[in-house]
Amino acid sequence: MKAYIDQLAAGMMPESRELEELLRTEDEEILAYLYAQARKVREKHYGRDVYIRGLIEFTDYCRNNCYYCGLRRDNRKAERYRLSEQEIMECAQEGYFLGFRTFVLQGGEDAGYGCERIEALVRMLKERFPDCAVTLSVGEHSEKTYRRWREAGADRYLLRHETADPAHYRRLHPQELSWERRMECLHTLKRLGYQVGCGFMVGSPGHETGHLVKELLFLRRFRPHMVGLGPFIPHKDTPFGGAPAGTLLMTLKCLALVRLILPDVLLPATTALGTIAENGTVLGMQAGANVVMPNLSPVYARRKYMLYDGKAVSGSEAAEGLQLLKERMEAAGYRVAVSRGDWKGEKNDV
Ligand code: SAH
Ligand code: SF4
Repeated sequence: MKAYIDQLAAGMMPESRELEELLRTEDEEILAYLYAQARKVREKHYGRDVYIRGLIEFTDYCRNNCYYCGLRRDNRKAERYRLSEQEIMECAQEGYFLGFRTFVLQGGEDAGYGCERIEALVRMLKERFPDCAVTLSVGEHSEKTYRRWREAGADRYLLRHETADPAHYRRLHPQELSWERRMECLHTLKRLGYQVGCGFMVGSPGHETGHLVKELLFLRRFRPHMVGLGPFIPHKDTPFGGAPAGTLLMTLKCLALVRLILPDVLLPATTALGTIAENGTVLGMQAGANVVMPNLSPVYARRKYMLYDGKAVSGSEAAEGLQLLKERMEAAGYRVAVSRGDWKGEKNDV
């Protein structure tokens, strides 16, 4: 298997059978080799820099009903909030002082924050912080809307595809949501010139090893600039409240394989990873990740924005815990960079 890992690291097209074997292995030596090769590839492209993104969770209203998510519209127990423009600008200002040069506006699909309101918000952020990148992560919208946001200055867009298998997508979402439409959105975003992030949850209900192989092959075909992946974690007030969480081991293997398959991808160690394991962020870096997204939202909002149970909202997951994050990263041989942290690949295939 080591020879196969070398071939992947050298850019060979991944093959289903071998990928599946790697995803199934629990051999410590092979795993250590996999992570070491992933780190080597990461260092070739991004050195030991860790890019940070200030995450602003600006609304937890959502019109959708994804079975796995605590923000789903049928979750009557969710406490809904919506930050004002002023609150968002204050979060960004604080983030700027701390050294953030990317702001990620994430939220549910909220009719209270429609096309024009978000467009104005993007303009405001880009005007006040011209040296910063703005990333949006607000779900599925029309091409017209995505274009207006892009023209207003939005640089990047995160829209996880959630699963590369249409039948599995059906299991995770109600009838009104469609895998094909999600894929179409991703293609549209790329065409409009965004740096695009897709991604998936590891171990969502019914997500088997075979699906993970499909995720990796899909990523290789689609070639996103960023990949957001983390373990599925159940939320008690959702239809999947009793399902088991995805595992640390599988998440780390996926991170390492994504790094080998897409050498220059921007790859965060996600909050979900930091939630299932105290040292998840460092372990993520050691498996090939190069981005962390600490939370800049006001503390009251963080506690309400509960995609899943037990979400980590303090310590190195929080912007004010940046010092702690820096220390942890330095102890592991990495360096938190004050920069926009753009994608360093060469071409933007559509
Ligand atoms: N509404 C937007 C952005 C917010 S949700 C959207 O859906 O794209 C952001 C991500 O959180 C989702 O893409 C999903 O992958 C993740 N997520 C939601 N519920 C989760 C859960 N229970 N466990 C782990 N990740 C979850
Ligand atoms: Fe809404 Fe996103 Fe949660 Fe689905 S995953 S319910 S779209 S916030």
